[in-house]
Amino acid sequence: MIAPRFVRRPARMTTKLSLNLAERTEALEKIRDEILKLEASPLYAFRIANKSLPVIGEGSHEARIMLVGEAPGKNEAATGRPFCGASGKLLDELLSSVKISRESVYITNIVKDRPPENRDPSPEEIAIYGPFLDKQIEIIQPEIIATLGRFSMQYIMTKFGLADFLLPISQMHGQLFGTEASHSKIKILPLYHPAAAIYNRKLLDTLKLDFAKLKEL
Ligand code: URA
Repeated sequence: MIAPRFVRRPARMTTKLSLNLAERTEALEKIRDEILKLEASPLYAFRIANKSLPVIGEGSHEARIMLVGEAPGKNEAATGRPFCGASGKLLDELLSSVKISRESVYITNIVKDRPPENRDPSPEEIAIYGPFLDKQIEIIQPEIIATLGRFSMQYIMTKFGLADFLLPISQMHGQLFGTEASHSKIKILPLYHPAAAIYNRKLLDTLKLDFAKLKEL
């Protein structure tokens, strides 16, 4: 059992929801509908021009573990499913290496539409889509959030009052942090983005070791 660094600093969340499964599904569908017509997003026109889809999230609406990536890529925008391309294949491999099924977790991103050329999400994009991720966390009420990559690490650590601990991801990955969400205590585990291991098999070993921590929690 790993002991997290526990920080008693309540996140500023507004509603205290405790929804049953049907209510969770309905609330998540509402988020999907809002994102579908999010004309204010700088990525909306690109989505429409490419006839692609927003990627809201996938998995159990009662998941203990939520995985948060950065933004959809081409395959994800074509299908509306998170992590279904090359990084998705690695994510599946990592989950199965620790015997966690993809269906048992909830997988989403901070940014719900694909940035052109798969570039990094901009601060403006993170600002417009972040509140939807906040709502997803309130609805699903995970016990553990594993962040995939530095953008989601920065967003989630900051959201939960842990910004003072932020360091480069090479120094943060695999460290467990504890804090409080509106629904309960929550643990945060920063991880490398699976894409980082596509061309670097050493990082795949690191990711496997870090993913093993998810199993222990
Ligand atoms: N990379 C991400 O961060 N998210 C996806 O859904 C796919 C690739």
